[in-house]
Amino acid sequence: MDYALLRKKMVLEQLIPRGIKDPRTLNAFYKIERHKFIPSDLRNSAYADFPVPIGEGQTISQPYIVALMTECLELTEKDKVLEIGTGSGYQTAVLAELAKEVYSIERFEGLGRGAEAALNALGYQNIKMKVADGTLGWEEFAPFDKIIVTAASPKVPLPLTEQLKESGRLVLPLGETFSQVLTVIEKKEGRFAFREVCGCVFVPLIGKHGLSRDTL
Ligand code: SAH
Repeated sequence: MDYALLRKKMVLEQLIPRGIKDPRTLNAFYKIERHKFIPSDLRNSAYADFPVPIGEGQTISQPYIVALMTECLELTEKDKVLEIGTGSGYQTAVLAELAKEVYSIERFEGLGRGAEAALNALGYQNIKMKVADGTLGWEEFAPFDKIIVTAASPKVPLPLTEQLKESGRLVLPLGETFSQVLTVIEKKEGRFAFREVCGCVFVPLIGKHGLSRDTL
C-alpha cells in the first residue's frame, strides 16, 4: 500500500476541493502518517473519506472534518490547546504540529494508551495526555488559548468555557446524538459569540457536563 500517495490524494481530492486552504493545516495533513493511528486490519481505509472504527465503539473522524475543525481553531505556534476526545490520537498529532502545547483527554483507557503509543512512536514531545472525564477540562493547566471537543456535546460544558482564555476559541459539535452543528465559540470580554459552521455527526460526549451514561 502506497500510503504517501494515498495521503497526497486525500489532501488533493477531499480537503482542497471542499475549501480547506490554510497552508499550515494542509501541510500537517500531507505530513502525518494517518495509517499509524488506525487498527492494522482497517489500514486500507486509513485515507478514505469516511470515519473508521478504532475500538470501544468509537471512530476516527473523517479527514475533512478533522481539517475543518483545525482551520476553525485558527492555531498559532504559540497556542496552548486542550482537546477532549483523544480517540485515535490523529487530531492530537495535527494539533501538535500547529500549536505549542497540546493537552488531550480520553475517557477510555485503551484508546488513550493506543494514542499515546502512536504519538510517541512519531516523536511528538509537546503533548500531555490523561484518561479522565474531559467535560471537566484540565484545571491544572488552564487557561487554554484554544479548546476542541471531538465528541457530540448536548450543551457547552461549563468548565471548558471557564478554562478558555480571554479572546480564546472553543470548537465543538453541538446538538443531539445523531446530528450536531459544528460550532465556533469566541470569548470576548467575558462574553461568548457563537458561529455555526455546518452540520456534522460525532459519537457522544459522555460525562458530567455531557450526556450521562444512562441516556444512551
Ligand atoms: N479526534 C478523535 C475522535 C475520536 S471519537 C479521532 O479522530 O480519532 C471521540 C472520542 O471522544 C472517543 O474516543 C470517546 O471515547 C471520547 N470521549 C467521549 N466523551 C468523553 C469525555 N467526557 N472525556 C474524554 N473523552 C471522551
